[in-house]
Amino acid sequence: MRKISEKISAILPSATIEISDRAKRMKEEGIDIISLSIGEPDFDTPEHITEACIEALLGGKTHYAPSAGINELRSAISEKVSTENGIPATSDDILVSCGAKNSIYEAMEAVLNPGDEVIVLDPAWVSYEPSVQIAGGRAIHHPLNRKTFQVDDSVLEKVSSETRMIVFNTPSNPTGSVMDRESLRLIQDISLDNDIIAMSDEIYEKLIYGKEHISIASMDGMAERTITINGFSKAYAMTGWRIGYTVAPPDILRQMIKVQQHTISHPTTFAMWGAVAAIEGDQTCVEDMRQEFENRRDYVISALSDMGYETAPAEGAFYAFVHVGGDDVEVAKTWLNDGHVAAIPGSAFYAPGWLRLSYAADLLTLKEAMRRISEL
Ligand code: PMP
Ligand code: GLU
Repeated sequence: MRKISEKISAILPSATIEISDRAKRMKEEGIDIISLSIGEPDFDTPEHITEACIEALLGGKTHYAPSAGINELRSAISEKVSTENGIPATSDDILVSCGAKNSIYEAMEAVLNPGDEVIVLDPAWVSYEPSVQIAGGRAIHHPLNRKTFQVDDSVLEKVSSETRMIVFNTPSNPTGSVMDRESLRLIQDISLDNDIIAMSDEIYEKLIYGKEHISIASMDGMAERTITINGFSKAYAMTGWRIGYTVAPPDILRQMIKVQQHTISHPTTFAMWGAVAAIEGDQTCVEDMRQEFENRRDYVISALSDMGYETAPAEGAFYAFVHVGGDDVEVAKTWLNDGHVAAIPGSAFYAPGWLRLSYAADLLTLKEAMRRISEL
């Protein structure tokens, strides 16, 4: 057999993408599938953003751009993170990439040496561990408390002399839970005491229901040791645009920019102009979508609870994390094959016994999905 990369062969495919692709194929075969698998807003990108991009295209913004992103966007992002998130940043502290996923990968490449350990708080999104592995590091998993989904000091047991980073996501994909200040303080202490970098993925910060979003980089001593990841996919329904960003200390950002120069060069020039309109324009569209997600959250969580299911605290993002017990992969298969509802098994997020349902679908569809699940 041909010799190919052992490092990449060892990495699992993305379960979120594979399962949603499978659901799409079943739909194309004429099966009436309701896919609650992929985490993607069902709304179209707000018109003023699309118009700004079209204007940029017609205006000739079709050339190479500065590798770290156009100055207008870096400056608008630095303004946003300084005022909204309390992260002291200038445009030089911002790197715009092709989606938050690309930002995460570049950060891993910039920080890790072979064998370095990265603590991943479980349940965790599917792409953290692969990006650690591609960069030559090792993911060390630590389970969060399965009732509160908050951090406690048991995480200290996972710290070793090889630990370089701790990765977490608030509001969380897949659980929907939001980290409270106490959890973040614990991460802050661990990071300061052991010289560990915090990677805080805040892509769902705008989709939050009655809770406060706190950026760990705004806490004492953390700006110098935090990589904050964010992007436009979820807040502005811009998944296909592929625009994400990083706020990081200069020594890390410099290395990330080199990775970017040698791989993607920069995100698509005219897409960045759309992102400028998103961040500088009226934010009513963000609140309207948040409100709609909150209504759906209320419906889905109460329907699941009426069926007797326990769910993780659904405080943000657009996921219901449902305790199904037993073999979650089998349960997901039954839901898909017999109920025609696609969901992601918790095992994909290192949480066997759970299923993730995305409620980024209209209420009518969600009602039909709940009817099918309850019949099963
Ligand atoms: N982090 C989390 C937790 C996500 O759910 C996603 C969605 N794919 C991403 C990062 C990446 O988002 P983007 O579309 O900006 O690459
Ligand atoms: N973040 C989404 C999800 O978890 C999109 C798919 C992906 O990039 O993993 O479903």
